[in-house]
Amino acid sequence: MKNILLLLILFTPTQLFSQNTYYLQPDRVFDGTQMQEGWAVLVTGNKISAAGPSAQLKPPKEATVIKLTGCTLLPGLIEGHSHLFLYPYNLTDWDTQVLKETDAYRTARATVHAKNTLMAGFTTVRDLGTEGAGYADVALKRAINEGIIPGPRMIVAGRAIVSTGSYGPKGYDDDSKIMLGAEPTDGNDLIRVVRDQIGKGADFIKVYADYRWGTKGEDRPSFTLDELKLVNEVTRSSGRYLVCHAKSKEAIKRAILAGAETIEHGDYLDEEVAQLMKQHNVTYYATLGAVDAIQQYRGWKKGKDPEPALVQQKKRSFKIALDAGVTIGMGGDVGVYHHGQNVYEMELMAEYGMKPLDILKAATSVNAKALHMENEIGSIKPGLLADLVAVKGDPTNNISDLRKTEFVMKDGVRFR
Ligand SMILES: [Zn+2]
Repeated sequence: MKNILLLLILFTPTQLFSQNTYYLQPDRVFDGTQMQEGWAVLVTGNKISAAGPSAQLKPPKEATVIKLTGCTLLPGLIEGHSHLFLYPYNLTDWDTQVLKETDAYRTARATVHAKNTLMAGFTTVRDLGTEGAGYADVALKRAINEGIIPGPRMIVAGRAIVSTGSYGPKGYDDDSKIMLGAEPTDGNDLIRVVRDQIGKGADFIKVYADYRWGTKGEDRPSFTLDELKLVNEVTRSSGRYLVCHAKSKEAIKRAILAGAETIEHGDYLDEEVAQLMKQHNVTYYATLGAVDAIQQYRGWKKGKDPEPALVQQKKRSFKIALDAGVTIGMGGDVGVYHHGQNVYEMELMAEYGMKPLDILKAATSVNAKALHMENEIGSIKPGLLADLVAVKGDPTNNISDLRKTEFVMKDGVRFR
């Protein structure tokens, strides 16, 4: 034992010196809050060790100098609402993906989705449910963390929770058991299911607070306020948090009052709900990309045809949230459209009136805080993990410059 300790003491300093050191020199740095012209960033091992004006911050002699001329360096981007186990519904509809594709097949696809996401500069994803692939997200996350396959950091929901009778796939013969896209449960049994999902690896709990099961197929609440409160209490006591899918006004209100930290979709939020979100420090994920993409899959010729009602509604609610000063995160429900095209959501946020600098914040520091990870990711400052991306151009002038990925680093490892 004594010998082992001695060995450790002898070898630790050598390991420190053999850590990779990178000196990154872009034209400008977005630090998670503002744009800094002429900054350089120093990476030591898997951490950012220094950041500041390049005139003051000189490269140490052991550093690999990477000049990123014409580029903006940003914190690794964070996708706030992904489904790595889904792919565009115009290729294969959702029912077929959930019912006819095995978990093994879906996982094989998900490894490619993960790689494409990372290469597009998204070094972290909050994944909102496997939609019928059980806890394959927990396994995918493990393979990425162990360095077996390239992919983003994953914060995962697992199966997610729905109320009995509300969720799909729907309309099949009752003679055979149809597997749903999430785990159905109600009442006091929610306690057991939340604990079970946590035990199987859920990093947070996702509940569908409403679904389109109204008499005319409209979005109606699926859980009572008390049920949501129960879920929140059990979730919180484990140190985790609740997030809710909620489109209708009533479901959004119940979710907020129950203690949900983020609202997903929020299609029918109004001024009153926006104020409630602010009071309760709730972060809003509008998922503009999903609505825009689905309408196009249904035949809408964007830019030619008049805007479908659902797109108009999305624009209205997004503007209400924006004007009210609600905290808006970046999450597009990617999976409905191609993984690796995550910037699509950010382009729509710009199109719907959000300032590019605020969109950059949403995808970095705001998302990091919503994930309770602001001390690890989402900003460029000493001590944080070296998750960094460089793009050609300046995304505060043109948000689509985020598509021009030149450099990707996650955890101090260079992938591009
Ligand atoms: Zn989703």
